Amino acid sequence: MDPGAARWPPAVFAFDLAADRNAGLEAARRQPILLRMKTESPADIEADLHPCTLAARGGGVEPQYGGLVPPIHPAVTYERAADGDYPRGVAYGRDQNPTGRPTERLLAQLEGGVEALLFGSGMAAAAALIDALPHGSRIVAPDRMYWALRRWLDQATGERRIAAVAVPAGDLEALSLALASPTSLVWLETPANPTCEITDISEACRLAHRAGAVVAVDNTLATPVLTQPLRLGADLVLHSATKALNGHSDVVAGALVTARRDELWERIAAARSFRGGILGPFEAWLLLRGLRTLFLRVARSSDSALALALRMLRDPAVTAVFYPGLESHPGHDIACRQMAGGFGGVLSFRVRGGQAAAMAVAARLRVIVRATSLGGVESLIEHRASIEGVGTPVPDDLLRLSVGIEDLEDLWADLDRALAPTRSG
Ligand code: PLP
Repeated sequence: MDPGAARWPPAVFAFDLAADRNAGLEAARRQPILLRMKTESPADIEADLHPCTLAARGGGVEPQYGGLVPPIHPAVTYERAADGDYPRGVAYGRDQNPTGRPTERLLAQLEGGVEALLFGSGMAAAAALIDALPHGSRIVAPDRMYWALRRWLDQATGERRIAAVAVPAGDLEALSLALASPTSLVWLETPANPTCEITDISEACRLAHRAGAVVAVDNTLATPVLTQPLRLGADLVLHSATKALNGHSDVVAGALVTARRDELWERIAAARSFRGGILGPFEAWLLLRGLRTLFLRVARSSDSALALALRMLRDPAVTAVFYPGLESHPGHDIACRQMAGGFGGVLSFRVRGGQAAAMAVAARLRVIVRATSLGGVESLIEHRASIEGVGTPVPDDLLRLSVGIEDLEDLWADLDRALAPTRSG
């Protein structure tokens, strides 16, 4: 069932003028134009709207009082009818809190999926998916991806719960070879955090499906504004909604979106219910509020990130810039095909002089904040190798920059000042 259907009953009326116009001018001259009232469900109204409009509406007008913002339901438990039934379909707040439903519905719409589930974090969402696979399942995942998930896969492999095999990120030949052995899941992350490798989603899906594997794409960096993996053939999409979806660095959240309600999806939903890895109502409400401005924020961050990447490319203090919007990026052509409207707000660069020089550049910044995370309205910089620790594939002179929505020239002035001593040093 459409998760929004129960909560948002048909309640909006519109005049259906077109039908009367079709009746002909003659008829209209002879009798007063009849304005017929036609009942439209929110799904009818939303059917033709662009994703940006759906996001700005934030789920639409709430039906009870007509509020433009939905209410927060803090209730943990819900009244049963005299016959013992739950006529409103809500019994207990562990996985049935109604506050998250408009958020889940909007996420499913933005990604072009049939259903979405919110989780207490991006890691909880990823773990719910991987744990829903049969014990001992083989997973093929990139060698460059969000480091905590990479390490969790390695740990789960060590414990023999799954068998995770790493292939070079974006390398379809390596993926094809890895798929020679029976595989349950192909994990993709594009652009990859933090080194921005690009994977051709359509082609990876073709290879994976031919081998009988399901494809899940971590779409955290691209966001549904720029890429919709389900439309390119993926089966599931993961988000750390902590990042750009919420966008204000004040919610930790995760989401999965599915292309179809199948057995795997049922197992994921059951796992969330049993384990209780849910998102609280206030966080779900904040996330919906953040989503209303998603398109504006992503467009602004992407534009600024490209401008900064181009300036840094020419900077003598910088030895390499990783950003899919650059023509020199090996995945640029694929990115142009599968990312529409920009290349995202995250870029990384290597600083001349090694780790100490990179740390010194970060230390000199005054506007861009030294902090982990990405996708917020404020720009953040991070020395990734020191947070990822031993065994990280990330070079020790690399800084990851998450570009926010500040004035571009303020950001460049800050970077320019911080890079200056390295240039002359
Ligand atoms: N995926 C990506 C690409 C991430 O960057 C992160 C976190 O940084 C995660 C998943 C995990 O999300 P969370 O921190 O919400 O658990």
